[in-house]
Parts: sequence; C-alpha cells; structure tokens
Amino acid sequence: MKNSFSLLKQTVLNSNSILLLTHTSPDGDALGSTAALKLLLEKLGKTVDCFLDDTFPAVFPHLQQYFSIKKETTTAYDLIILVDCADRSRTGVSYPTPKTIACIDHHISNPKNCDINIVDAAAAATAEIIYRLMLDWEIGCDKEIAGAIFTGILTDTGGFLFQNTTKQTHEIVAHLMEYPFEHSRIVRVSMLEKTLTYSKLYAHLFENLVHFEALKAVVGHIDYDTYQKFSATPDDTEGLSAVLRNITGIECGVLLTEREKGTIKGSIRTNETYDANELASLFGGGGHMRAAGFRSTLTYQEIKEKIHEWLSAHQ
Ligand code: 5GP
Ligand code: MN
Repeated sequence: MKNSFSLLKQTVLNSNSILLLTHTSPDGDALGSTAALKLLLEKLGKTVDCFLDDTFPAVFPHLQQYFSIKKETTTAYDLIILVDCADRSRTGVSYPTPKTIACIDHHISNPKNCDINIVDAAAAATAEIIYRLMLDWEIGCDKEIAGAIFTGILTDTGGFLFQNTTKQTHEIVAHLMEYPFEHSRIVRVSMLEKTLTYSKLYAHLFENLVHFEALKAVVGHIDYDTYQKFSATPDDTEGLSAVLRNITGIECGVLLTEREKGTIKGSIRTNETYDANELASLFGGGGHMRAAGFRSTLTYQEIKEKIHEWLSAHQ
C-alpha cells in the first residue's frame, strides 16, 4: 500500500490535468472521498475536475460545490482517479483513455485492473484510505477536508453501527473532530433526515414484502408505477434496504427498485449467513460482504426466483 501511495503521489505531481470520478448514484463515501481527494490534490498545487453523471444527492449540500454534472468529456486527462468505484464501467461518465488511470477503493469486488490500484477491502470506507493518503503525503488537514472524510466514514459505517467499524475508524474520526466542521449538522442532514416520500415508499414496501421464511430473507419491490406515482428520486429510497435487513430473524434483505422502465436496481444487505457480494455478482453487480448492489434488465419475477434459488443453495 505504501508503495502505491508514493507512486500515486509521483504521478499526481507529474500530471497537468486530473479528473476524479466516482460511481453512479453516489453515496456519502463516494462524494466525501472524492471531495477530500480533490482538496488534497489542490494543496499539492493541482487543478482538479470532479464529474458526476447525474443529479447531485440533496442530502450532502456541503459537498456539492466540488462537483460538476457532466456525462461525457472529450479532454484527454493525464490522470483519472476512480474513487470508491468498484468497477471501471460504473462511473456513468465517458472519457478518452488517459495517460494513467488509478483507483482508490474498498470494495471486495474491485478487479484491480487500473494502472495504479489502491484497494483495501478491510477499510470501512474509501474515506479511511483518503485519510491515510493525507498522512502519508504529509498534507495538513483542514475543516473542509475533515468534514468530507467524516461524511464518507459516517455514512459507510451506518453512523458507526455496522460491522466494518473498527477502533481505527473511531481513532480517525477522533482526530478529524479536532477541526471545526459542523459534524452534528452533517449527521442530521446526511443520515437522520428522511423525505416524506421515503416514508410513503416505506409503507408501500412493507405492505408488499415477500418473506422467504425458511431462508430468513425478505424481498421488497418498488415497481416503476409506484416510483412514478410518488415522484420518487434516489434520495427517497436511500436507507430502505438497511431497514429490511434489520427485521428480527432476517439474514438477507433485498430491495428491488425500478427507477427506469425495464431496469431494476437491486440493493442487498445481509447479516451473518449470506455473502451479499456473491449474490450481487449473480447479476453482474458487486460491493461488500454485507452490502452490495446490481442493475438488471431481468423482470422482477425472474430476479426474485434467481435470488430464491441462490439463497436456497447458500443457507
Ligand atoms: P447500494 O445498495 O447502496 O446501491 O450499494 C451497496 C454497495 O454495493 C455500495 O458499496 C455500492 O458501491 C456497491 N454497488 C451497488 N451497485 C453496484 C453495482 O452495480 N456494481 C458493483 N460492482 N457494485 C455495486
Ligand atoms: Mn464506500
């Protein structure tokens, strides 16, 4: 890891144009890690672009200023860094091949096929790796960087409640809190507050929940018509898959949402029995042991049957 930190720093210093990209439907870690890295690179004297393919999630207003919405660029960058992005095809942004492509990530499914790969599946969040880069590169922290890294760690650990939270996670956050960023506002706006539409979808979800009792699994479905009826956005479904996992006795919760006609977004959350990453890979997706996702053009029925079959073979 140390060697790849130095290699990335050298490559950064030798690059005149740098682009940071993260995954489509970005979460707090995707946005926090990318924003923090941009600020660190600026402290090294670099100008850095950060593009997102779609609308900026409303729950991270303190990070919005660092990003532009752009689905395509014709600029041939010297260096592109994929941040918190498990797969090169998951950015949703198209770009000419750069001189060097690097990735900084913590997804177990990351194929490590970039020129420089900084991948640590043991890190609770990519933001933890960005924190380590900051120390290794000997760049001073400030309240903006601390707030961005904090957002990534806070959200990817579910508010320090998930299994991925370690002593080191708390030590990093203890250090970050020496800087005067507004942590309680970030906790409230990014984690606790939910839209009214979220609650309406929540109610709908539980009315229609499919329970595979013997397999200790539930599958929730938000079909296209329901998504449209509530004028829902991705912000309105954030966190619903974790709610399914937290039903007593449940080992696996899957949320299937049809945001666009004909494409289902799957969100898998597991406790101890099942490997979410393995289940997601059945549909070409990936992620972590306890949280993974996919997109599929199969029908709801087909996906549900494949999930049932896989769970039966892995219970
Ligand atoms: P979510 O269910 O919240 O969208 O995603 C859970 C985890 O799985 C996140 O770490 C996310 O980056 C990852 N993930 C979600 N969808 C996909 C996908 O289609 N492919 C891959 N490789 N990872 C995904
Ligand atoms: Mn992450």
